[in-house]
Amino acid sequence: MDEFEIIQRFFDRQERAPGVVTGIGDDGAVVLPQAGLEQVQVIDTLVEGVHFPADTAAADIGYRVVAVNLSDIAAMGARPRWMTLALTLPTKDAVWIGDFAAGLFEAADEFDVALVGGDTTRGDAVVATLHLSGDVAPGTALLRSGACTGEAIYVTGTLGDAAAGLELWRRGERDDFLLHRFLRPSARVATGLSLVGRASAAIDISDGLFGDLAKLLQASNVGGDLEISSLPLSRAITSGFDNEDCVRFALSGGDDYELCFTCSPEDVEGIDGICRIGTVTDGNGVLCRQHGKVIDYEDGGYRHFQ
Ligand code: ADP
Ligand code: MG
Repeated sequence: MDEFEIIQRFFDRQERAPGVVTGIGDDGAVVLPQAGLEQVQVIDTLVEGVHFPADTAAADIGYRVVAVNLSDIAAMGARPRWMTLALTLPTKDAVWIGDFAAGLFEAADEFDVALVGGDTTRGDAVVATLHLSGDVAPGTALLRSGACTGEAIYVTGTLGDAAAGLELWRRGERDDFLLHRFLRPSARVATGLSLVGRASAAIDISDGLFGDLAKLLQASNVGGDLEISSLPLSRAITSGFDNEDCVRFALSGGDDYELCFTCSPEDVEGIDGICRIGTVTDGNGVLCRQHGKVIDYEDGGYRHFQ
């Protein structure tokens, strides 16, 4: 099976998606953005052994590479439209590629994104890079830099599940709910869209809440008070780990792909699945409190090239 057969068999669905003038099969894709809208461009790479264990199911890798990019699109308050895929593979196992494509299209169909092109290469490990573009009304994209003193800090969903699930997997144990939270992140696209015009700043949590919130606060030139006892934790994590581990996973675990945003409390009415975890202050950095008392927290969030 050569590269062209792989593309034809697994990735070219001959889609006639809205705005796709020319899709897979030419030197480039031609798309027609909706007149007057701004385009948000995001890209993320998953490397075997770095971002997922080598024995991760192909369908989960396919789903996940779309979901992590959708999470960035969600954090910008944009609507996802089109994506391109650069896929490097050590072997050309048809079953593996078919499963990968099935997972990728499952996420694409769930969120109405069209695959319009890509690149397929041979290499030593599985590397999947996905570029996604989305659109947003001019000047309304959610940035990291708009948070103001006195606003509340919120997160979506529950925190720490993915890191806890991954740690159990590495130990040879398994919790289906927690592992699913790692393998199939829930991209908060609908919440991101509903925050446009309401949230003052937003970021998606990929490297742990503590570090990612710090990035948002720094970009906004403010500080934040974080109440540890308010962190939203799933029943699965609290029943599997003691409180100290839960807090460590929630603050520094990574791979949550939840949103963290700042907003006036009266502006979040009607938005479901969110939890207030703190307040924006005129300090700098993240100040952690437990039941109001300041505590010292050392972050261990994930950083590449440390
Ligand atoms: P070129 O040599 O002009 O870069 P290719 O032969 O690499 O083109 O690709 C042929 C077509 O297939 C292009 O439209 C490209 O975008 C698409 N394509 C290649 N790999 C993939 C992939 N993994 N998924 C989706 N489309 C792909
Ligand atoms: Mg070409």
